[in-house]
Amino acid sequence: MQPESETGSGRVWFVGAGPGDPDLITVKGRKLLETADTILYAGSLVDRAATLFAPAGCEIRDSKDMTLEEMTEWLIDRAGRHATVVRLQTGDPGLYGALIELTRPLTAAGIAWTVVPGVSSAMAAMAAAGETLTLPEVTQTVILTRVAGRTPMPPGEDLEALAAHQTTLCIFLSITLLHKVQQALRAAGWAEDAPILVVQKASWPGEERIVRGTLADIKQKCQAEKIASQAMIVASPALGAAGWPDLARSKLYDPAFSHRFRKATEITHD
Ligand code: SAH
Repeated sequence: MQPESETGSGRVWFVGAGPGDPDLITVKGRKLLETADTILYAGSLVDRAATLFAPAGCEIRDSKDMTLEEMTEWLIDRAGRHATVVRLQTGDPGLYGALIELTRPLTAAGIAWTVVPGVSSAMAAMAAAGETLTLPEVTQTVILTRVAGRTPMPPGEDLEALAAHQTTLCIFLSITLLHKVQQALRAAGWAEDAPILVVQKASWPGEERIVRGTLADIKQKCQAEKIASQAMIVASPALGAAGWPDLARSKLYDPAFSHRFRKATEITHD
């Protein structure tokens, strides 16, 4: 539970806008936008959701030209004058969203705030491609990460170390650094023909693009398609499973496997 307002002022809602399609915002997020007094949205990725659902008279501001300090000042000022202030962010606010940098000054100023989760672009990219993040006996773990750009990676989190687990990797903020992704996966022992998926603008109506390649050729393919921004890179041993001839069965739906909601049925094998 986040802190209650101490000043009797409004609340700041950090709302996940989802990956791009305005229909992928949560019902709660949409209700907040529909009743917002003011909305501060994060750049071009989410303006449609803000303008589609905001009520008449709502103040709508793009934060793309603002520093973090200007944003917190703005949020504190508006929360002092309005009941419902929405900060609209792409995907889920807790992933690469500067959430804590924004909430700490609010708490210090006695402003109440709440986070409303959103559909991350990692999930939207996999949905777009008809792929699964986990697959029984293939991979049961998902790593959401990035490679170092201007933001350095903390010790132990470089992609080579993470890739050594041979699990699903959803790599954010790294499409211009595909050469670093390739280097890291090779160093971690991934095969040259390991499948790699890139999805640009996942879920954006009419703008989504899907590129399938291998560790060897994904960079050239993305260059040929001129994909250099707003893209998710996925490396996973489960990619392409829809077309595999054999698949281990998910225990959850196995008739011989009981769980809380279903008793196992007797089956005979011959
Ligand atoms: N909070 C966001 C991530 C913000 S960081 C989320 O949960 O999705 C910005 C990065 O997210 C981009 O560099 C890109 O890697 C990814 N991204 C955001 N929207 C995307 C989309 N619609 N399709 C593919 N990748 C996207």
